Amino acid sequence: MRAGQGVLDELYERLRAYEGRVAATAGVGKDLVNEAMIRHWCEAMGDTHPAYSGPGAVAPPAMLQAWTMGGLSGHTDRSGAYDELSGLLDEAGYTSVVATDCEQEYLRPLRPGDRITFDAVIEAVSERKTTKLGTGYFVTTRMDVRAQGEPAGTHRFRILKYAPANPKPKPKREGTGAGTGVAKGATLRSRPVVNRDNAGFWEGVAAHRLLIQRCTACGSLRFPWLPGCNVCGSPAWDTVEASGEGTVFSHVVMHHPPFPAFSENGEGGPYAVALIELAEGVRMVSNVIGVPCDKVGVGMPVRLEFLRADPELVLPVFRGSEG
Ligand code: ZN
Repeated sequence: MRAGQGVLDELYERLRAYEGRVAATAGVGKDLVNEAMIRHWCEAMGDTHPAYSGPGAVAPPAMLQAWTMGGLSGHTDRSGAYDELSGLLDEAGYTSVVATDCEQEYLRPLRPGDRITFDAVIEAVSERKTTKLGTGYFVTTRMDVRAQGEPAGTHRFRILKYAPANPKPKPKREGTGAGTGVAKGATLRSRPVVNRDNAGFWEGVAAHRLLIQRCTACGSLRFPWLPGCNVCGSPAWDTVEASGEGTVFSHVVMHHPPFPAFSENGEGGPYAVALIELAEGVRMVSNVIGVPCDKVGVGMPVRLEFLRADPELVLPVFRGSEG
């Protein structure tokens, strides 16, 4: 799809006409601000700040949007304007969407018992932008949140509606699959996220070594890799190489959706995902191979192997043995 500049500018003019239009009106929070949701949030976030519990507690400010969310049963207060805007972009080929950022402003603390109402407007539509993901338009929605009708905060939410850059066909495996248990033409496994905290782990895997972090202050082993010790807090560490012996601590068998790259025969059959307890005492999530999925069980002894999943990816997996 290639449209001339004039056509695109015309689209921008049509999109811009939605700036200031209502995206949601007279929304009402499904629950009053309440201690149970505050506690669940704090537990999920690991936030133990004393202001959020006990007598006189306030809600964590960052929960602002939570009080406006529709949950699984959805919203009934959306306006047509946002859907129309989205439809215009879809028709023009900008069919993909990614949330890019959110900004919040807090005007007063929220406390258990506060009744939340909110309105949202389409605040801004950007000119056409080209990003690494593709070309499209940023759409900013501003939600004004009130408690008992008084301003409590604003929540700005930005998405990019875009046409993917050079949509590529899905990567294909190379080779015939002979000896690898991988069918020709299967899609590849997703790539692990490698960052500065775990790069050493993946370097070890590439060299067929399973490395466990060890705190050099207190000697605790830890997995997965983290920047600090979860026992004593020390940032100092070295590694020990796992012997490769382990047992299945817990497991699930994945049936759906079928994903050929994960199944041993490359045809999308079920595969076992297990929490392996290594002989050294730490646990890691991996796959159990070499035994039918229905034979994988808690306590099964397993042994480390390195699987070349595709030309660019080596993964630690564990081979089980029946009986
Ligand atoms: Zn430590």
